[in-house]
Amino acid sequence: MDLSVIIPVYNEEESIPPLYRKLKEVLGNSAYAYELIFVDDGSRDQTLRLLKKIREVSADNPPLRIVQLTRNFGQHPALIAGFSVAKGCTLVTIDADLQIDPEHIIPMMDKIAQGFDFVSGIRRGKGDSFWLRRVPSRVLNAIIGTVTGERLLDYGCPLNAMKTEIAEAMREYGQMQRFLKPLAIRLSTRVAEVEVAHIRRAAGRSKYGLLSLVDLFFDFITNFSKQLFQRIAIVACVVSALSFLIGSIYLVLRFPLGLISGPCYRLQVLVLIGFLSGIQFLALGILGDFVIRIHRQLDSKPIFTIKRIW
Ligand code: UDP
Ligand code: MG
Repeated sequence: MDLSVIIPVYNEEESIPPLYRKLKEVLGNSAYAYELIFVDDGSRDQTLRLLKKIREVSADNPPLRIVQLTRNFGQHPALIAGFSVAKGCTLVTIDADLQIDPEHIIPMMDKIAQGFDFVSGIRRGKGDSFWLRRVPSRVLNAIIGTVTGERLLDYGCPLNAMKTEIAEAMREYGQMQRFLKPLAIRLSTRVAEVEVAHIRRAAGRSKYGLLSLVDLFFDFITNFSKQLFQRIAIVACVVSALSFLIGSIYLVLRFPLGLISGPCYRLQVLVLIGFLSGIQFLALGILGDFVIRIHRQLDSKPIFTIKRIW
């Protein structure tokens, strides 16, 4: 099996038939041996029934599996559930809503063939509303990039391809898997980005609004706070060291050299505050790092549970 396409679906009854048709058309015309894995993330509409019907009719051509989760876990846990049953050497993730055309899978597979471990899409176009989704998404992107130190252009793009080894390595990472992309990138040696056209949702409704991006933000901070604490500690060290340096220069200029006459209280207070708060934040950073290490040791709860596989 060359590739497994994993599609998380949550109340997507309108999108499933056109998506299935399009995937079959694009991948059927390629040379790849592929399978489709739909992960039903606790849908309450006809999604599961429709999928079972398609599976019956298609008679394993192409191989199609349905993973039913016990309840709604969210898009990324659903993808991880799909990874756990996938058989392909390359795993492709794509949304059900056809906002990104499956034809973009092919250039991504080309990149994988060139030796990249992880290929991410960069959404281009006006698929989402500007103020409610694209601007907040940019902000989140900048934060994720700063905290993880990996500057990817679009962390939110749902179309990605990765070698199976990356998904396997991700299993060790407990709750961090909720943030699939930053984790996958950290585990990859070679990462490529490919532009993909992003259009408006034709059917069904988006499961995300501004609030869920806020939720995503907190989720990210709690799961990736090790980096955050490390960065706080580094900034704290720099602030303390700078304060110390400025204070020392001031003392040398004032006493042995006598170039400054009279005390400069403002500077003294600033230097003292800078130095002491730097030390405090350093302590916070170290403490935070300890807490995260303990948290990781205790973090063995699975992020999804499978009810049935067809
Ligand atoms: N999805 C899911 N579980 C959820 C929310 C969404 O499996 O709790 C799926 C959804 O069916 C779709 C994909 O994740 O295939 C992306 O969702 P959506 O298109 O609503 O997100 P948006 O494009 O608005 O970011
Ligand atoms: Mg969408």
